[in-house]
Amino acid sequence: MIDLSRFFSDKYAALTPYTPGEQPKNRTFIKLNTNESPFPPSPRAREYARRAAESLHLYSDPTCAALTAKAAEVFGVDPDEIIFTNGSDDVLNFAFMAFCDQDHPACFPDITYGFYSVFAELNGVPYTRIPLNDDLTVNVQDYVNRNATIFLANPNAPTGILLPLADIETILRGNPDNIVVIDEAYIDFGGESAVPLIRKYDNLLVTQTFSKSRSMAGARLGMGFGCKALIRDLNAIRYSTNPYNINSMTMAAGIGALEDEIYFRDNCRAITENRAWAARQLDNLGFRLTDSSANFLFARHDSISGKALYQALRSSGILVRHFDTPKLTDYLRITVGSMEEMKAFVTAIETILKEATL
Ligand code: PMP
Repeated sequence: MIDLSRFFSDKYAALTPYTPGEQPKNRTFIKLNTNESPFPPSPRAREYARRAAESLHLYSDPTCAALTAKAAEVFGVDPDEIIFTNGSDDVLNFAFMAFCDQDHPACFPDITYGFYSVFAELNGVPYTRIPLNDDLTVNVQDYVNRNATIFLANPNAPTGILLPLADIETILRGNPDNIVVIDEAYIDFGGESAVPLIRKYDNLLVTQTFSKSRSMAGARLGMGFGCKALIRDLNAIRYSTNPYNINSMTMAAGIGALEDEIYFRDNCRAITENRAWAARQLDNLGFRLTDSSANFLFARHDSISGKALYQALRSSGILVRHFDTPKLTDYLRITVGSMEEMKAFVTAIETILKEATL
């Protein structure tokens, strides 16, 4: 547990803060550990951010009007069906604040994004973790009639496994009096978005991020899509915490990124091609992989532990993510980078496996 002062409120006694992936600054690693994009933001996003820097003496627009108008056009929804936040972590936290309490506990898979349990604890929300099937897929029937606010990452993290929209509709119909949050942080790498369903289900909140497919992890820009009433609820929380949660440079960069549709599509295509290539190489080397629709692979090898492989890769200058929990310890989560990075990664793995079997 972290060393807290005697002034820290008892209401957070059970809190275990989220542990972000390493961001080392003292050595140059090939960074395949935090699911960032290997590509820089769109040139247009960078140019708009530079221009916005001229006006940093003024507060940012709390209504995010220009960015919201552009997003409404791109995603085919009305402006009042969207909320922008400081990364999608922010909108997820708002969802825990707005839609969960003692009478509306949270539930999510036992293997999923680690922040859900942290947000639940931060907000004093009771929660249940529902075990995944042995093959790491979600058992849809487990989420019907839950009487809880449901959080599902789709594709899931760190497995990368995608739930088809038909299953999401089953879950939405199976919980008409509860909110279902579909976290689409990785949807652009091969999944079908649930955003069009917000008109059909008033209990659906979809979250997305600019951190992955739009190469803007450092800018912190996330968004939520839902019916107008849900977006009003989330704005009530936003205006009660920090209406300026998005800075002007990020807002401007977001518009640039949305305008540069071709850049976005090309990068998503490159990532999915690199993912397919790397998955084939790992398969040939005897790894077992989940069927990932995200910008990462989730893989294990029978002859070397996840931890040993993580450490050996680290010594070779390559960072991947290892989760030291009983169900995940055999696995590594490998962010899909550029082709050059993936080739270096595969070469390092080949060397490590050769040495391990000597
Ligand atoms: N959801 C999932 C499933 C994630 O993996 C992440 C990234 N760590 C996020 C949400 C949050 O991303 P961001 O706050 O950068 O939008």
